[in-house]
Amino acid sequence: MALLQATLPYTHTDDHFIDGAWQRSTGVGRTEVTNPATGEVWASVPQASVADLDAAVAAARRAFTGNDSSISNAGGSGWRDVAPAERARLVRRLASEVEKRSEAISHTNTWENGSPVSETSKAAANAASIFRYFASLAPMLERPDIRPFPDGSAETMVRLDPVGVCALIAPWNFPINLVVAKLAPALMAGCTVVIKPASPTPLSVRLILDAADAAGIPAGVINLVTGPGSFGDALVKHPGINKVAFTGSTPVGRSIAAACGTLLRPVTLELGGKSSALVLPDVDLEAMSEVLIRSCMRNTGQTCYISTRILAPAERYDELIDMVTATIAAAPQGDPMDPATVFGPSATRAQEQVVRGYIRSGLAEGARATTGGDVPSGFDRGFFVKPTVFADVTPGMRIAQEEIFGPVLSIMRYSSVDEAVQIANNTPFGLGGTIFSEDPDAAFALVPRLDTGSVGLGFFASNHAAPFAGRHDSGLGAEFGPEGLRAYLSVQSVHRRIR
Ligand code: NAP
Ligand code: MG
Repeated sequence: MALLQATLPYTHTDDHFIDGAWQRSTGVGRTEVTNPATGEVWASVPQASVADLDAAVAAARRAFTGNDSSISNAGGSGWRDVAPAERARLVRRLASEVEKRSEAISHTNTWENGSPVSETSKAAANAASIFRYFASLAPMLERPDIRPFPDGSAETMVRLDPVGVCALIAPWNFPINLVVAKLAPALMAGCTVVIKPASPTPLSVRLILDAADAAGIPAGVINLVTGPGSFGDALVKHPGINKVAFTGSTPVGRSIAAACGTLLRPVTLELGGKSSALVLPDVDLEAMSEVLIRSCMRNTGQTCYISTRILAPAERYDELIDMVTATIAAAPQGDPMDPATVFGPSATRAQEQVVRGYIRSGLAEGARATTGGDVPSGFDRGFFVKPTVFADVTPGMRIAQEEIFGPVLSIMRYSSVDEAVQIANNTPFGLGGTIFSEDPDAAFALVPRLDTGSVGLGFFASNHAAPFAGRHDSGLGAEFGPEGLRAYLSVQSVHRRIR
Protein backbone atom coordinates (compact mmCIF):
# COMPACT_ATOMS: atom_id res chain seq x y z
CA MET A 1 0.00 0.00 0.00
CA ALA A 2 1.80 3.10 -1.23
CA LEU A 3 0.59 6.33 0.29
CA LEU A 4 -0.05 8.80 -2.48
CA GLN A 5 1.57 12.25 -2.57
CA ALA A 6 0.17 14.55 0.14
CA THR A 7 0.05 18.30 0.82
CA LEU A 8 0.94 18.69 4.50
CA PRO A 9 1.83 22.27 5.46
CA TYR A 10 2.07 21.48 9.17
CA THR A 11 4.04 18.69 10.78
CA HIS A 12 6.07 19.40 13.93
CA THR A 13 4.78 22.63 15.45
CA ASP A 14 5.69 24.55 18.59
CA ASP A 15 2.93 27.10 18.80
CA HIS A 16 -0.67 27.97 19.60
CA PHE A 17 -2.72 30.64 17.82
CA ILE A 18 -3.25 33.35 20.44
CA ASP A 19 -4.21 36.99 19.93
CA GLY A 20 -3.88 36.90 16.15
CA ALA A 21 -0.49 35.19 15.85
CA TRP A 22 1.20 31.80 16.20
CA GLN A 23 2.88 32.07 19.59
CA ARG A 24 5.45 29.67 21.01
CA SER A 25 4.02 27.32 23.63
CA THR A 26 5.32 27.62 27.17
CA GLY A 27 4.13 24.09 27.98
CA VAL A 28 6.56 21.19 28.32
CA GLY A 29 4.70 18.11 27.06
CA ARG A 30 4.09 17.22 23.41
CA THR A 31 1.41 15.21 21.63
CA GLU A 32 2.43 13.02 18.71
CA VAL A 33 0.23 12.66 15.67
CA THR A 34 0.07 9.23 14.04
CA ASN A 35 -1.04 8.35 10.52
CA PRO A 36 -3.60 5.58 11.14
CA ALA A 37 -2.98 4.09 7.70
CA THR A 38 0.67 3.37 8.53
CA GLY A 39 0.93 3.58 12.31
CA GLU A 40 3.80 6.04 11.89
CA VAL A 41 4.21 9.27 13.84
CA TRP A 42 4.50 12.10 11.32
CA ALA A 43 3.79 15.25 13.34
CA SER A 44 3.56 16.63 16.85
CA VAL A 45 2.08 19.59 18.69
CA PRO A 46 2.77 21.24 22.03
CA GLN A 47 0.65 20.73 25.13
CA ALA A 48 -0.35 24.11 26.50
CA SER A 49 0.68 25.35 29.93
CA VAL A 50 -1.69 27.08 32.33
CA ALA A 51 -0.06 30.35 31.19
CA ASP A 52 -0.92 29.54 27.55
CA LEU A 53 -4.53 28.85 28.54
CA ASP A 54 -4.73 32.10 30.50
CA ALA A 55 -3.22 34.01 27.56
CA ALA A 56 -5.70 32.54 25.08
CA VAL A 57 -8.72 33.27 27.28
CA ALA A 58 -7.44 36.79 28.03
CA ALA A 59 -6.95 37.47 24.31
CA ALA A 60 -10.49 36.27 23.61
CA ARG A 61 -11.87 38.48 26.39
CA ARG A 62 -10.06 41.56 25.08
CA ALA A 63 -11.24 40.84 21.55
CA PHE A 64 -14.81 40.37 22.78
CA THR A 65 -15.11 43.67 24.61
CA GLY A 66 -12.49 45.73 22.85
CA ASN A 67 -10.91 46.61 26.18
CA ASP A 68 -10.06 44.88 29.43
CA SER A 69 -13.48 45.46 30.99
CA SER A 70 -15.95 42.64 30.80
CA ILE A 71 -18.92 44.80 31.68
CA SER A 72 -18.99 48.05 29.76
CA ASN A 73 -20.45 47.74 26.30
CA ALA A 74 -20.82 51.47 25.77
CA GLY A 75 -19.17 52.56 22.55
CA GLY A 76 -17.06 49.43 22.61
CA SER A 77 -14.73 48.35 19.88
CA GLY A 78 -14.90 44.61 20.46
CA TRP A 79 -16.11 41.85 18.17
CA ARG A 80 -19.48 42.00 19.97
CA ASP A 81 -19.83 45.62 18.82
CA VAL A 82 -19.19 44.89 15.14
CA ALA A 83 -22.46 45.12 13.19
CA PRO A 84 -23.86 41.70 12.20
CA ALA A 85 -23.68 42.63 8.50
CA GLU A 86 -19.97 43.38 8.86
CA ARG A 87 -19.40 40.16 10.78
CA ALA A 88 -21.20 38.37 7.93
CA ARG A 89 -18.91 40.00 5.37
CA LEU A 90 -15.84 38.79 7.24
CA VAL A 91 -17.30 35.31 7.76
CA ARG A 92 -17.99 35.06 4.01
CA ARG A 93 -14.38 36.03 3.33
CA LEU A 94 -13.33 33.36 5.79
CA ALA A 95 -15.41 30.85 3.80
CA SER A 96 -13.52 31.77 0.61
CA GLU A 97 -10.15 31.53 2.36
CA VAL A 98 -11.05 28.09 3.68
CA GLU A 99 -11.93 26.92 0.15
CA LYS A 100 -8.48 28.02 -1.06
CA ARG A 101 -6.96 25.63 1.46
CA SER A 102 -9.10 22.65 0.48
CA GLU A 103 -6.32 20.27 -0.51
CA ALA A 104 -4.15 20.94 2.55
CA ILE A 105 -7.18 20.55 4.82
CA SER A 106 -8.15 17.29 3.14
CA HIS A 107 -4.72 15.71 3.20
CA THR A 108 -3.88 16.83 6.73
CA ASN A 109 -7.23 15.52 7.97
CA THR A 110 -6.70 12.19 6.20
CA TRP A 111 -3.20 11.81 7.66
CA GLU A 112 -4.51 12.64 11.15
CA ASN A 113 -7.50 10.33 11.38
CA GLY A 114 -7.51 8.08 8.32
CA SER A 115 -10.78 9.43 6.92
CA PRO A 116 -10.67 8.63 3.21
CA VAL A 117 -10.03 11.55 0.85
CA SER A 118 -13.42 10.80 -0.70
CA GLU A 119 -14.67 12.21 2.62
CA THR A 120 -12.05 14.84 3.53
CA SER A 121 -11.86 16.37 0.05
CA LYS A 122 -15.31 17.80 0.81
CA ALA A 123 -14.38 19.16 4.26
CA ALA A 124 -13.35 22.66 3.13
CA ALA A 125 -16.35 23.10 0.84
CA ASN A 126 -18.65 21.93 3.60
CA ALA A 127 -16.99 24.29 6.11
CA ALA A 128 -17.39 27.17 3.67
CA SER A 129 -21.04 26.29 3.22
CA ILE A 130 -21.56 26.30 7.00
CA PHE A 131 -19.87 29.71 7.32
CA ARG A 132 -22.05 31.12 4.49
CA TYR A 133 -25.21 29.66 5.99
CA PHE A 134 -24.61 31.34 9.35
CA ALA A 135 -23.59 34.58 7.60
CA SER A 136 -27.00 34.50 5.92
CA LEU A 137 -28.63 34.65 9.38
CA ALA A 138 -27.29 38.18 10.05
CA PRO A 139 -30.78 39.71 9.58
CA MET A 140 -32.03 37.56 12.48
CA LEU A 141 -29.63 39.54 14.69
CA GLU A 142 -30.66 42.92 13.32
CA ARG A 143 -34.44 42.57 13.30
CA PRO A 144 -35.98 44.14 16.43
CA ASP A 145 -38.34 41.77 18.20
CA ILE A 146 -41.12 43.85 19.80
CA ARG A 147 -43.73 42.19 22.03
CA PRO A 148 -46.61 44.21 23.50
CA PHE A 149 -47.63 43.68 27.13
CA PRO A 150 -50.87 41.60 27.10
CA ASP A 151 -52.83 44.55 28.49
CA GLY A 152 -51.40 46.89 25.84
CA SER A 153 -49.93 49.26 28.43
CA ALA A 154 -46.33 49.00 27.28
CA GLU A 155 -44.07 46.91 25.13
CA THR A 156 -40.92 44.85 25.42
CA MET A 157 -38.06 44.83 23.01
CA VAL A 158 -36.21 41.51 23.15
CA ARG A 159 -32.54 42.11 22.38
CA LEU A 160 -29.94 39.45 21.67
CA ASP A 161 -26.45 39.79 23.10
CA PRO A 162 -23.54 37.48 22.37
CA VAL A 163 -23.05 35.15 25.32
CA GLY A 164 -19.32 35.94 25.57
CA VAL A 165 -16.12 33.95 25.31
CA CYS A 166 -16.78 30.36 24.25
CA ALA A 167 -14.73 27.20 24.70
CA LEU A 168 -15.08 24.98 21.62
CA ILE A 169 -14.01 21.37 22.19
CA ALA A 170 -14.01 18.96 19.26
CA PRO A 171 -13.55 15.21 18.72
CA TRP A 172 -11.33 13.49 16.14
CA ASN A 173 -13.85 12.02 13.71
CA PHE A 174 -14.64 15.22 11.73
CA PRO A 175 -11.99 17.66 12.95
CA ILE A 176 -12.99 20.49 10.59
CA ASN A 177 -16.76 20.16 10.37
CA LEU A 178 -17.30 19.80 14.12
CA VAL A 179 -15.19 22.88 14.88
CA VAL A 180 -16.85 24.98 12.18
CA ALA A 181 -20.33 23.91 13.36
CA LYS A 182 -19.50 25.82 16.55
CA LEU A 183 -17.20 28.53 15.25
CA ALA A 184 -19.55 29.84 12.54
CA PRO A 185 -22.53 30.58 14.82
CA ALA A 186 -20.22 31.85 17.58
CA LEU A 187 -18.63 34.37 15.20
CA MET A 188 -21.97 35.50 13.80
CA ALA A 189 -23.39 35.92 17.31
CA GLY A 190 -20.47 38.21 18.21
CA CYS A 191 -18.71 35.74 20.49
CA THR A 192 -14.99 35.11 20.63
CA VAL A 193 -13.57 31.63 21.08
CA VAL A 194 -10.83 29.36 22.33
CA ILE A 195 -10.70 26.11 20.35
CA LYS A 196 -9.33 22.84 21.69
CA PRO A 197 -9.09 20.14 19.02
CA ALA A 198 -8.87 16.44 19.88
CA SER A 199 -5.35 15.12 20.45
CA PRO A 200 -5.30 12.82 17.38
CA THR A 201 -6.38 15.69 15.07
CA PRO A 202 -4.69 18.96 16.10
CA LEU A 203 -3.32 20.06 12.72
CA SER A 204 -6.02 20.34 10.03
CA VAL A 205 -7.85 22.95 12.13
CA ARG A 206 -4.74 25.19 11.88
CA LEU A 207 -5.71 25.82 8.26
CA ILE A 208 -8.96 27.37 9.53
CA LEU A 209 -6.93 29.74 11.72
CA ASP A 210 -4.73 30.67 8.75
CA ALA A 211 -7.87 31.29 6.70
CA ALA A 212 -9.36 33.49 9.45
CA ASP A 213 -6.16 35.50 9.61
CA ALA A 214 -6.14 35.97 5.82
CA ALA A 215 -9.83 36.94 5.90
CA GLY A 216 -9.13 39.76 8.36
CA ILE A 217 -10.93 38.34 11.40
CA PRO A 218 -9.52 40.56 14.18
CA ALA A 219 -6.77 39.36 16.52
CA GLY A 220 -8.02 37.44 19.55
CA VAL A 221 -11.44 36.59 18.11
CA ILE A 222 -10.38 32.99 17.35
CA ASN A 223 -7.69 31.29 19.44
CA LEU A 224 -6.44 27.70 19.08
CA VAL A 225 -4.67 25.86 21.87
CA THR A 226 -3.62 22.21 21.90
CA GLY A 227 -3.42 19.93 24.92
CA PRO A 228 -4.79 16.69 26.37
CA GLY A 229 -8.21 16.02 27.89
CA SER A 230 -7.11 17.51 31.22
CA PHE A 231 -6.42 20.74 29.36
CA GLY A 232 -9.98 20.59 27.98
CA ASP A 233 -11.23 20.24 31.54
CA ALA A 234 -9.24 23.32 32.63
CA LEU A 235 -10.61 25.27 29.67
CA VAL A 236 -14.21 24.32 30.53
CA LYS A 237 -13.73 25.54 34.12
CA HIS A 238 -11.68 28.66 33.33
CA PRO A 239 -13.24 31.74 34.99
CA GLY A 240 -12.95 33.71 31.74
CA ILE A 241 -15.20 31.33 29.78
CA ASN A 242 -18.92 32.13 29.38
CA LYS A 243 -20.14 29.12 27.37
CA VAL A 244 -18.94 25.65 26.41
CA ALA A 245 -19.72 23.85 23.16
CA PHE A 246 -18.61 20.23 23.07
CA THR A 247 -18.82 17.31 20.68
CA GLY A 248 -17.48 13.99 21.86
CA SER A 249 -18.25 10.98 23.99
CA THR A 250 -21.11 10.74 26.46
CA PRO A 251 -18.89 10.17 29.55
CA VAL A 252 -16.79 13.29 28.86
CA GLY A 253 -19.98 15.21 28.01
CA ARG A 254 -21.43 14.23 31.37
CA SER A 255 -18.34 15.51 33.22
CA ILE A 256 -18.47 18.80 31.29
CA ALA A 257 -22.19 19.14 32.04
CA ALA A 258 -21.47 18.59 35.73
CA ALA A 259 -18.81 21.30 35.75
CA CYS A 260 -21.06 23.68 33.83
CA GLY A 261 -23.93 22.88 36.19
CA THR A 262 -21.87 23.92 39.18
CA LEU A 263 -20.77 27.08 37.39
CA LEU A 264 -24.23 27.75 35.87
CA ARG A 265 -22.39 28.07 32.56
CA PRO A 266 -24.38 27.49 29.36
CA VAL A 267 -23.32 24.35 27.54
CA THR A 268 -24.14 22.60 24.27
CA LEU A 269 -23.35 18.89 24.09
CA GLU A 270 -23.35 16.73 20.97
CA LEU A 271 -22.58 13.23 22.20
CA GLY A 272 -22.71 9.64 21.10
CA GLY A 273 -25.43 7.67 19.36
CA LYS A 274 -26.74 4.20 18.55
CA SER A 275 -29.25 4.86 15.83
CA SER A 276 -31.46 2.44 13.93
CA ALA A 277 -32.38 1.90 10.31
CA LEU A 278 -35.98 0.76 10.51
CA VAL A 279 -36.64 -1.24 7.35
CA LEU A 280 -40.30 -1.72 6.43
CA PRO A 281 -41.41 -4.83 4.52
CA ASP A 282 -41.95 -2.90 1.26
CA VAL A 283 -38.32 -1.67 1.16
CA ASP A 284 -36.57 -1.32 -2.20
CA LEU A 285 -33.31 -3.09 -1.37
CA GLU A 286 -31.48 -1.74 -4.40
CA ALA A 287 -32.26 1.86 -3.44
CA MET A 288 -31.27 1.14 0.16
CA SER A 289 -28.00 -0.40 -0.98
CA GLU A 290 -27.05 2.84 -2.75
CA VAL A 291 -27.27 4.91 0.43
CA LEU A 292 -26.35 2.19 2.94
CA ILE A 293 -22.75 3.17 3.58
CA ARG A 294 -23.44 6.91 3.75
CA SER A 295 -26.40 6.44 6.13
CA CYS A 296 -25.18 3.54 8.23
CA MET A 297 -21.37 3.33 8.01
CA ARG A 298 -20.10 6.79 7.03
CA ASN A 299 -16.42 7.54 7.74
CA THR A 300 -15.53 3.90 8.51
CA GLY A 301 -18.34 3.82 11.05
CA GLN A 302 -16.94 6.79 12.96
CA THR A 303 -19.93 9.09 12.66
CA CYS A 304 -22.18 9.81 15.61
CA TYR A 305 -25.57 9.79 13.82
CA ILE A 306 -25.27 6.76 11.55
CA SER A 307 -27.87 3.99 11.75
CA THR A 308 -25.62 1.10 12.77
CA ARG A 309 -28.51 -1.10 13.91
CA ILE A 310 -30.58 -2.42 11.03
CA LEU A 311 -34.06 -3.58 12.02
CA ALA A 312 -35.26 -6.14 9.50
CA PRO A 313 -38.81 -7.45 9.05
CA ALA A 314 -38.92 -11.23 9.43
CA GLU A 315 -40.30 -11.70 5.89
CA ARG A 316 -37.36 -9.86 4.28
CA TYR A 317 -34.71 -10.88 6.83
CA ASP A 318 -32.51 -13.16 4.69
CA GLU A 319 -32.71 -10.92 1.62
CA LEU A 320 -31.73 -7.90 3.67
CA ILE A 321 -28.77 -9.72 5.21
CA ASP A 322 -27.61 -10.70 1.73
CA MET A 323 -27.88 -7.12 0.44
CA VAL A 324 -26.13 -5.54 3.43
CA THR A 325 -23.39 -8.16 3.43
CA ALA A 326 -22.76 -7.82 -0.31
CA THR A 327 -22.74 -4.01 -0.17
CA ILE A 328 -20.30 -3.81 2.73
CA ALA A 329 -18.04 -6.59 1.41
CA ALA A 330 -17.81 -4.92 -2.01
CA ALA A 331 -16.74 -1.48 -0.70
CA PRO A 332 -12.98 -1.06 -1.09
CA GLN A 333 -10.93 -0.68 2.09
CA GLY A 334 -7.39 0.60 1.87
CA ASP A 335 -5.13 3.62 1.56
CA PRO A 336 -7.31 6.55 2.62
CA MET A 337 -5.36 8.78 0.21
CA ASP A 338 -6.72 6.74 -2.71
CA PRO A 339 -9.90 8.42 -4.02
CA ALA A 340 -11.48 4.98 -4.62
CA THR A 341 -11.23 3.98 -0.95
CA VAL A 342 -14.51 3.76 0.96
CA PHE A 343 -13.30 2.26 4.26
CA GLY A 344 -10.08 3.49 5.83
CA PRO A 345 -8.45 2.45 9.09
CA SER A 346 -9.81 3.26 12.54
CA ALA A 347 -8.57 6.68 13.62
CA THR A 348 -6.35 5.50 16.45
CA ARG A 349 -4.79 2.29 17.76
CA ALA A 350 -7.01 2.61 20.84
CA GLN A 351 -10.14 2.86 18.68
CA GLU A 352 -9.04 -0.18 16.65
CA GLN A 353 -8.78 -2.14 19.91
CA VAL A 354 -12.22 -0.94 21.05
CA VAL A 355 -13.80 -2.03 17.76
CA ARG A 356 -12.08 -5.42 17.81
CA GLY A 357 -13.29 -5.87 21.39
CA TYR A 358 -16.89 -5.26 20.28
CA ILE A 359 -16.50 -7.73 17.41
CA ARG A 360 -15.30 -10.40 19.84
CA SER A 361 -18.14 -9.52 22.20
CA GLY A 362 -20.69 -9.91 19.38
CA LEU A 363 -19.34 -13.35 18.49
CA ALA A 364 -19.23 -14.39 22.15
CA GLU A 365 -22.86 -13.35 22.63
CA GLY A 366 -23.97 -15.45 19.64
CA ALA A 367 -24.17 -13.00 16.76
CA ARG A 368 -23.19 -14.34 13.30
CA ALA A 369 -20.61 -12.42 11.24
CA THR A 370 -21.66 -12.57 7.58
CA THR A 371 -18.59 -10.63 6.47
CA GLY A 372 -15.54 -9.52 8.47
CA GLY A 373 -15.44 -10.69 12.06
CA ASP A 374 -12.46 -11.26 14.30
CA VAL A 375 -10.09 -11.72 11.36
CA PRO A 376 -6.79 -10.18 10.20
CA SER A 377 -7.29 -6.88 8.40
CA GLY A 378 -5.31 -7.93 5.35
CA PHE A 379 -2.95 -4.96 5.81
CA ASP A 380 0.57 -5.28 7.17
CA ARG A 381 0.41 -1.97 9.06
CA GLY A 382 -2.01 0.67 10.25
CA PHE A 383 -5.18 0.42 12.34
CA PHE A 384 -7.44 -1.43 9.89
CA VAL A 385 -10.41 -3.50 11.03
CA LYS A 386 -12.31 -5.53 8.44
CA PRO A 387 -15.80 -4.06 7.98
CA THR A 388 -18.14 -6.45 9.74
CA VAL A 389 -21.83 -7.27 9.44
CA PHE A 390 -23.50 -9.15 12.25
CA ALA A 391 -26.78 -11.02 11.70
CA ASP A 392 -28.90 -12.67 14.43
CA VAL A 393 -28.23 -9.79 16.81
CA THR A 394 -30.67 -9.49 19.70
CA PRO A 395 -31.51 -6.17 21.39
CA GLY A 396 -29.81 -6.97 24.69
CA MET A 397 -26.36 -7.69 23.23
CA ARG A 398 -23.60 -5.16 23.91
CA ILE A 399 -23.12 -4.65 20.17
CA ALA A 400 -26.82 -3.71 19.99
CA GLN A 401 -26.69 -1.26 22.89
CA GLU A 402 -23.28 0.46 22.98
CA GLU A 403 -21.75 2.85 20.48
CA ILE A 404 -18.97 0.99 18.65
CA PHE A 405 -17.63 3.85 16.48
CA GLY A 406 -16.15 1.54 13.89
CA PRO A 407 -17.16 -0.42 10.77
CA VAL A 408 -19.64 -2.79 12.41
CA LEU A 409 -23.33 -3.16 11.51
CA SER A 410 -25.83 -5.18 13.55
CA ILE A 411 -28.92 -6.68 11.94
CA MET A 412 -31.88 -7.50 14.19
CA ARG A 413 -35.10 -9.25 13.23
CA TYR A 414 -38.54 -7.88 14.15
CA SER A 415 -41.99 -9.34 13.65
CA SER A 416 -44.23 -6.28 14.09
CA VAL A 417 -43.72 -2.56 13.56
CA ASP A 418 -44.49 -1.99 17.23
CA GLU A 419 -41.64 -4.31 18.14
CA ALA A 420 -39.32 -2.47 15.72
CA VAL A 421 -40.17 0.90 17.27
CA GLN A 422 -39.62 -0.57 20.71
CA ILE A 423 -36.17 -1.90 19.71
CA ALA A 424 -35.26 1.41 18.05
CA ASN A 425 -36.05 3.40 21.18
CA ASN A 426 -34.52 0.92 23.59
CA THR A 427 -31.03 2.41 23.94
CA PRO A 428 -29.77 5.18 26.23
CA PHE A 429 -29.24 7.39 23.15
CA GLY A 430 -31.53 9.50 20.96
CA LEU A 431 -29.57 10.98 18.07
CA GLY A 432 -30.51 9.79 14.57
CA GLY A 433 -32.42 7.09 12.72
CA THR A 434 -33.56 6.19 9.24
CA ILE A 435 -36.75 4.65 7.90
CA PHE A 436 -36.58 2.70 4.65
CA SER A 437 -39.92 2.21 2.87
CA GLU A 438 -41.39 2.68 -0.58
CA ASP A 439 -44.42 4.34 1.04
CA PRO A 440 -43.54 7.88 2.19
CA ASP A 441 -46.76 8.21 4.20
CA ALA A 442 -46.15 4.98 6.10
CA ALA A 443 -42.58 6.07 6.83
CA PHE A 444 -43.61 9.55 7.93
CA ALA A 445 -46.31 8.16 10.20
CA LEU A 446 -43.63 6.36 12.21
CA VAL A 447 -41.47 9.45 12.76
CA PRO A 448 -43.19 10.76 15.90
CA ARG A 449 -42.75 7.34 17.51
CA LEU A 450 -38.94 7.55 17.22
CA ASP A 451 -37.42 9.26 20.25
CA THR A 452 -34.46 10.88 18.50
CA GLY A 453 -33.43 14.38 17.44
CA SER A 454 -33.25 13.59 13.72
CA VAL A 455 -34.83 11.03 11.39
CA GLY A 456 -34.04 10.40 7.72
CA LEU A 457 -36.59 8.96 5.31
CA GLY A 458 -34.83 6.72 2.81
CA PHE A 459 -31.38 8.20 3.56
CA PHE A 460 -29.60 10.09 6.34
CA ALA A 461 -27.50 13.20 6.00
CA SER A 462 -27.14 16.35 8.05
CA ASN A 463 -28.42 19.71 6.83
CA HIS A 464 -26.76 22.74 8.41
CA ALA A 465 -29.91 24.82 8.01
CA ALA A 466 -31.77 22.47 10.37
CA PRO A 467 -31.15 21.78 14.05
CA PHE A 468 -29.04 18.75 14.93
CA ALA A 469 -29.89 17.83 18.50
CA GLY A 470 -29.41 14.69 20.52
CA ARG A 471 -31.93 13.52 23.09
CA HIS A 472 -31.12 11.63 26.32
CA ASP A 473 -27.49 10.40 26.39
CA SER A 474 -26.90 11.95 22.95
CA GLY A 475 -26.70 15.49 24.25
CA LEU A 476 -28.15 18.82 25.26
CA GLY A 477 -29.12 21.71 23.01
CA ALA A 478 -28.79 21.96 19.25
CA GLU A 479 -26.21 22.80 16.63
CA PHE A 480 -26.99 24.15 13.14
CA GLY A 481 -30.00 26.10 11.98
CA PRO A 482 -31.23 29.28 13.71
CA GLU A 483 -31.37 27.16 16.88
CA GLY A 484 -27.62 26.70 16.59
CA LEU A 485 -27.10 30.47 16.42
CA ARG A 486 -29.40 31.05 19.41
CA ALA A 487 -27.11 28.85 21.49
CA TYR A 488 -24.50 31.65 21.36
CA LEU A 489 -26.90 34.45 22.31
CA SER A 490 -28.33 35.77 25.56
CA VAL A 491 -31.67 37.55 25.63
CA GLN A 492 -32.28 40.94 27.21
CA SER A 493 -35.86 42.16 27.58
CA VAL A 494 -36.26 45.96 27.49
CA HIS A 495 -39.66 47.09 28.81
CA ARG A 496 -40.67 50.52 27.56
CA ARG A 497 -43.66 52.79 27.12
CA ILE A 498 -45.26 52.61 23.69
CA ARG A 499 -44.17 55.70 21.79
P1 NAP B 1 -13.89 12.36 23.71
O1 NAP B 1 -12.90 11.44 24.29
O2 NAP B 1 -15.11 12.67 24.47
O3 NAP B 1 -13.10 13.69 23.37
C1 NAP B 1 -13.71 14.79 22.75
C2 NAP B 1 -12.89 16.02 23.07
O4 NAP B 1 -12.94 16.30 24.46
C3 NAP B 1 -11.42 15.90 22.73
O5 NAP B 1 -10.95 17.16 22.31
C4 NAP B 1 -10.82 15.50 24.06
O6 NAP B 1 -9.45 15.81 24.18
C5 NAP B 1 -11.62 16.37 24.99
N1 NAP B 1 -11.65 15.91 26.37
C6 NAP B 1 -11.33 14.69 26.87
N2 NAP B 1 -11.53 14.67 28.21
C7 NAP B 1 -12.00 15.89 28.55
C8 NAP B 1 -12.43 16.47 29.78
N3 NAP B 1 -12.43 15.80 30.93
N4 NAP B 1 -12.87 17.76 29.77
C9 NAP B 1 -12.91 18.45 28.62
N5 NAP B 1 -12.52 17.96 27.43
C10 NAP B 1 -12.08 16.69 27.40
O7 NAP B 1 -14.41 11.86 22.30
P2 NAP B 1 -13.53 11.36 21.09
O8 NAP B 1 -12.90 10.08 21.54
O9 NAP B 1 -12.66 12.42 20.58
O10 NAP B 1 -14.65 11.16 19.96
C11 NAP B 1 -15.49 10.03 19.86
C12 NAP B 1 -16.85 10.27 20.50
O11 NAP B 1 -17.44 11.49 20.06
C13 NAP B 1 -17.86 9.23 20.16
O12 NAP B 1 -18.49 8.78 21.32
C14 NAP B 1 -18.87 9.93 19.26
O13 NAP B 1 -20.16 9.46 19.30
C15 NAP B 1 -18.81 11.31 19.75
N6 NAP B 1 -19.24 12.20 18.67
C16 NAP B 1 -20.45 12.83 18.75
C17 NAP B 1 -20.87 13.66 17.73
C18 NAP B 1 -22.18 14.39 17.78
O14 NAP B 1 -22.34 15.39 17.09
N7 NAP B 1 -23.14 13.99 18.57
C19 NAP B 1 -20.05 13.87 16.64
C20 NAP B 1 -18.83 13.21 16.60
C21 NAP B 1 -18.43 12.40 17.63
P3 NAP B 1 -8.33 14.68 23.89
O15 NAP B 1 -8.55 14.21 22.50
O16 NAP B 1 -7.08 15.45 24.06
O17 NAP B 1 -8.54 13.60 24.90
MG1 MG C 1 -11.20 10.22 23.58
